[in-house]
Amino acid sequence: MTSTERTRTYWLEHAWLGTHVEPGVAVDVGDGRVTAVHQGVPTPPPGAEILRGLTLPGLANAHSHAFHRALRGTVQVGSGTFWTWREVMYSVADRLTPDTYHALARAVYAEMALAGITTVGEFHYVHHAPGGAPYADPNAMGEALVEAADEAGVRITLLDTCYLSSGFGEPPNTHQLRFSDGTAEGWAERCSVLKERDHARIGAAIHSVRAVPADQLATVAQWAEARRAPLHVHLSEQTAENDACRQAHGRTPTRLLADHGVLGPRTTGVHNTHLTDEDVALLGDSRTGTCMCPTTERDLADGIGPAAALQRAGSPLCLGSDSHAVVDLLEEARAMELNERLRTRARGHWTAAALLRAATADGHAALGWDDAGRIEAGARADLATIALDSVRTAGPLPRLGAETAVFAATAADVRHTVVGGRHVVRDGAHALVPDVPQALARAVDALHA
Ligand SMILES: [Zn+2]
Repeated sequence: MTSTERTRTYWLEHAWLGTHVEPGVAVDVGDGRVTAVHQGVPTPPPGAEILRGLTLPGLANAHSHAFHRALRGTVQVGSGTFWTWREVMYSVADRLTPDTYHALARAVYAEMALAGITTVGEFHYVHHAPGGAPYADPNAMGEALVEAADEAGVRITLLDTCYLSSGFGEPPNTHQLRFSDGTAEGWAERCSVLKERDHARIGAAIHSVRAVPADQLATVAQWAEARRAPLHVHLSEQTAENDACRQAHGRTPTRLLADHGVLGPRTTGVHNTHLTDEDVALLGDSRTGTCMCPTTERDLADGIGPAAALQRAGSPLCLGSDSHAVVDLLEEARAMELNERLRTRARGHWTAAALLRAATADGHAALGWDDAGRIEAGARADLATIALDSVRTAGPLPRLGAETAVFAATAADVRHTVVGGRHVVRDGAHALVPDVPQALARAVDALHA
């Protein structure tokens, strides 16, 4: 993706400016960034591109496994747990090749663009051929994802994931062989070759404390530290992981990560579901972020994480669609609040503004794009416009736009998406991937054939 050189002006019928909805805002864009924001512009200036509805900053999907999109629907038959779901997930992972993964990811990232998502954090661990042999280009799979994001018009942070073991002291199982680089040094050597691009940052991930031996955690943390790159880790999604970690190391996963230098302001724990009070304090005091994935957590029967307590303790919140049972950041945002309501039997834990912040600025920061997720001069020109005249959103006064966006709108109401000044979704149609449903159907069929 190249930033657009020419300047243009977008006229926003209503704009969310971080604290309030402002009617009539003109946004000047040059070289992919906002150069000026003019308020009090009741009619579109000549030549401006008109964005009717409520325009938010672009949304950040901070946790994605693109290939899980192939599971949508197919894993809803019968009963089971996270662990039985994982067996079905592995059967799809077994079939991925660089070509089939590229086709699927391009379609999934196009679905994200249609949902107003301008940046995706791809937690990527399917590195090698089945059995574990490297491809001719050992980063062929990661490159396929970076390329797919470019073709779908979205920005990506490739969170290249270290995955070495199936459990504490256990080698990878048959399915997991293709995830493993053997050692954390092997992982670091391979991902050091990956190059950042205009639309792509390279970050690191520790799959989980069960997948990276404790004595190799610091290698991954130091790799990220040396590059000032984001570092993500699945953390305490399941109580079984906590139990096994206590048995192996006599401490919780969070304490283990703290003791090996993994926590810190560039680190994000994904899920953070089953935590002790001490875990919450460790994450908060170290300013480690929390990525909640509420639609996946409910789909997999994980439980409800203590998001409100984490934020109070100092952990910034972001949101991810993770397994893509749903690709809808507005749904993730309201689900975080609604989960907390169910748990506490009280309403109003977050304002709509706070939920939007998690879905925009804080999500981008968690992915290493500190200059995105706000409509202000100097920020990346990323916009997502929600229709205020659909059956879901018609009615409330436009000044309630933030509440409408979070509590009434869905991804289906996203009318425009602008990424780095480029109009990727216009009037609900993707400008680069002409038929996204067909692209999804073909790519998913190829994996189930
Ligand atoms: Zn995940």
